[in-house]
Amino acid sequence: TNKPRIVILGAGYAGMMTTKRLTQKLGAEEAEIVLVNKHNYHYQTTWLHEIAAGTRNQNQARMMISDVFNPNRVRLIYDSVVEVKKDEKRVLLENSEISYDYLVISLGFETNTFGIKGMEKNAFSIQDIETSRLISEHIEYQFAKYTLDPKAKKEDLTILVGGGGFTGIEFVGELAEQVPKLCKKYDIDPSIPKIINVEAAPSILPGFNEVLVAYAKKSLEDRGVEFRIGAKIQECKKNSFVINDGEEVKAGTIVWTGGVTGNSILSKSGFEITKGKVTVNEDLRAPGEEDIFIIGDCAWVMNKEEGRPFPPTAQAAMQHADTCASNIKALLQGGALESFVFDDKGTVASLGNADAMGTVFSGTKLYGKSASAMKKVIDNRYLFLLGGPRLILKKGKLRPF
Ligand code: FAD
Ligand code: NAD
Repeated sequence: TNKPRIVILGAGYAGMMTTKRLTQKLGAEEAEIVLVNKHNYHYQTTWLHEIAAGTRNQNQARMMISDVFNPNRVRLIYDSVVEVKKDEKRVLLENSEISYDYLVISLGFETNTFGIKGMEKNAFSIQDIETSRLISEHIEYQFAKYTLDPKAKKEDLTILVGGGGFTGIEFVGELAEQVPKLCKKYDIDPSIPKIINVEAAPSILPGFNEVLVAYAKKSLEDRGVEFRIGAKIQECKKNSFVINDGEEVKAGTIVWTGGVTGNSILSKSGFEITKGKVTVNEDLRAPGEEDIFIIGDCAWVMNKEEGRPFPPTAQAAMQHADTCASNIKALLQGGALESFVFDDKGTVASLGNADAMGTVFSGTKLYGKSASAMKKVIDNRYLFLLGGPRLILKKGKLRPF
């Protein structure tokens, strides 16, 4: 048939929601929809700190893509994107290739080490299911080994987390819960393991509301997390960070949560790149491209009021998907393309399973159990949008604490 073909690259928040919206907005006869993803499953990136700490099973944070989309309606290709040949309107995959009429690039983020010496080699990172479960397995191995190995040192049980942005803070919140459990499981004196977060800025969560930041810091410190604030990581060695003027902080597990950037497929494919991402037009198309949309963590979308781009979040990625799907419909059916408008619903960060903090509904502050319950509502809402009540029952966070 001669149906136009829409190809979506990457089944994260942006890619899944775009696909979902397209199936809702377009008749089966109007277009062929193709979703390309590295794995046959979709995972919720915003739950990965829980997988990395070991507080949640990986299978709860992922789902088979074919459980969400009927493969007769959406063609599913499980393969890795290698390069977009935009002049030829085709995409090279590891094992095949595919041509497109309309392309959506939603390949997400990559960890950014900013070229810090030794970081890529010696630190773990929270990037996807595989890298995250490796972290929890490594931590558990250190605990299991400790009592057996006569050469084991106390610092083998130190977990060092580089970067006190939201990812680093949510991760140490989970660790504060997991470490006491591991101490019990492996008969280890709970005063031995340490959790240390290192942040270069004068405060953790730089730029976020000071009252909420203070709440988060105290909650975590009360549960044993140590902070090194205003401490710039200069180098990562096999078992340590070198900070500031050469002080060495030792650990048995080192995790870098100090920054993210857009998928490197963008630069490989010849797009104009600013700090690892493409600055898109208001309609979310790549500059100069009629038929390529770039959304989610691969895109810089300008916040005109503040004169800088919006931060990369799942909340924004899902909203990009709505605009992107509407604009593809407009291209197919004729009609004006809409500009993306961000609807900021707030920010809520977990500090473990039973504590959280954040802002909702244009500035209302939430703390403690009510924030934690709100965080679970946000997580479940996404599952609802994707797969209705059935998916919440299957994968949702149903226990309040
Ligand atoms: P992703 O969700 O990362 O999806 C990208 C997809 O592309 C993945 O499925 C990946 O497998 C696939 N892919 C990548 N490369 C290839 C390739 N070469 N070929 C084929 N497929 C490929 N944001 C919030 O708003 N709220 C939060 O609470 C929050 N918490 C977070 C917690 C953590 C631990 C982290 C790391 C981030 C968090 N974020 C949060 C940010 C949020 O997760 C991202 O902004 C969001 O995931 C971006 O969505 P995306 O669709 O662009 O990318
Ligand atoms: P980030 O860039 O927001 O934070 C990285 C932190 O590392 C910064 O505080 C930075 O100062 C610090 N850092 C960088 N280099 C350093 C060095 N050499 N030494 C010491 N510290 C250093 O990255 P992130 O936390 O991964 O967040 C990425 C995006 O995901 C953000 O947009 C964030 O808002 C979003 N996110 C949101 C939530 C939530 O809403 N609950 C949770 C996680 C992530």
